[in-house]
Amino acid sequence: MSEKKLLVKGGQLVSETGIIPGDLLIEGERIKAQGLKGAFDNINVDEVVDASGKYVLPGLVDPHVHLDSPFMGTVTVHDYNSGTIAAAYGGTTTVISFSTQPKGGSLLENLEQTEKKARDQAYIDWSLHGILLDAGPKTLTEIPKLVEAGVPSYKCFTTYRHADRLMDDDSILKLLEVTAEVGGILMVHCENDTILEYYLRKELARGHFSPIYHARTRPPSAENIAIQRIIDLMKEVVAKVYIVHTSTAESVEIIQSARVQGLPIHSETCPHYLTLTEKELEGENGQFFICSPPLRVERDIEALWIGLANGCVETVGSDDAGVSPQDNLRLAQGRFDKVPSGMSGIEPRLSILYTEGVCKGKIDLPKLVSVTSTAPAKIFGLYPQKGHLGAGADADVVIYDPEPEWVMSAKNHHMNTDFSPFEGFKIKGKVESVLCRGSFVIRDGALVGKAGHGKRIFRRL
Ligand code: MN
Ligand code: MN
Repeated sequence: MSEKKLLVKGGQLVSETGIIPGDLLIEGERIKAQGLKGAFDNINVDEVVDASGKYVLPGLVDPHVHLDSPFMGTVTVHDYNSGTIAAAYGGTTTVISFSTQPKGGSLLENLEQTEKKARDQAYIDWSLHGILLDAGPKTLTEIPKLVEAGVPSYKCFTTYRHADRLMDDDSILKLLEVTAEVGGILMVHCENDTILEYYLRKELARGHFSPIYHARTRPPSAENIAIQRIIDLMKEVVAKVYIVHTSTAESVEIIQSARVQGLPIHSETCPHYLTLTEKELEGENGQFFICSPPLRVERDIEALWIGLANGCVETVGSDDAGVSPQDNLRLAQGRFDKVPSGMSGIEPRLSILYTEGVCKGKIDLPKLVSVTSTAPAKIFGLYPQKGHLGAGADADVVIYDPEPEWVMSAKNHHMNTDFSPFEGFKIKGKVESVLCRGSFVIRDGALVGKAGHGKRIFRRL
């Protein structure tokens, strides 16, 4: 039986290198060919999708989401079902979530459990990073097996000593060593724990419990020092590192200079660090804006956009990790340090970056495709299967209509929460349709996909 042929016709095809008017021929789950306008007019197809006046992008890859994750006494609002629905509405066709090592326990066993939770739930494709809680002998021997099992990337923390997650220099060196040996990539959450603890003790003793003290106790210096420390350790043991959620102006410079020295360091930022400031923490909903690192100031926002434009910051992940506002209030009891930190942002990445970045001239459309799709696919071993509109790639395609103007709100989003960090943002353009491996997940703005269509993607670097 021949596979279904679908022609996406008359759109502007966007890749990380440019924009060309062209048509896209899809056969079954894959892209058969890309051609100039009309190139496939003499081929019999089962369906033609009119994309004239629209942008046609490779499906977005979100390299940083926390689906169905237990956290600080609750669980994140998005599981593999609700999270992938919201992601698809926002043009994302692959998410990479995390499998967390139980303290002292097996990475591989947890991987199996996570896979069970996700099975038959996802509307789009998904993959996993590990989260490492220690660098003990058991963990070090399991990392090569993790890589073998299609998980060549794993995250660790330079903070959260109180939750027993902190990796000291000794541990980081061991992780760099094994990462170099197996050809993996070490993801690091960088905030210097000693600095955070110092300010936290001080402010709590003064009776300062309001959300703005989340930012006051996690200053930019803590992030900058932690990133610099990782770079210094990388000079001892060279291995690939990915700095998650970069948020400060200085960190962009620090990472840039490490790259100039030839160190294999990559970095990510998030839509909230590109658009929101710590002022949100002083507003009415302040505690719902608590995330780590915290929101910063205008100067940092400017530097991060420049970092994206010049290639120093290579990716934008959502770091979707929100809990429900009800859980947030219940657990915090009016104390910033008890808030499960993290925001929901799995859906708005494309529309926020298009509106605030492309329309305001901070980045161009090919750069938008790079940071949200192609670069994460390349860094994490998904390319050219993902992040690419070329022949042989998975037919993960987003049709984006640049014309509609609308206001973002918790009332119109599809995330599983009644809070939106981007409430009131005026948005240009809208995701019209989304294909994941040749099947519509979103069609003309409506969900038409099925739970279980999404497959786990095994990665290799
Ligand atoms: Mn983190
Ligand atoms: Mn995270």
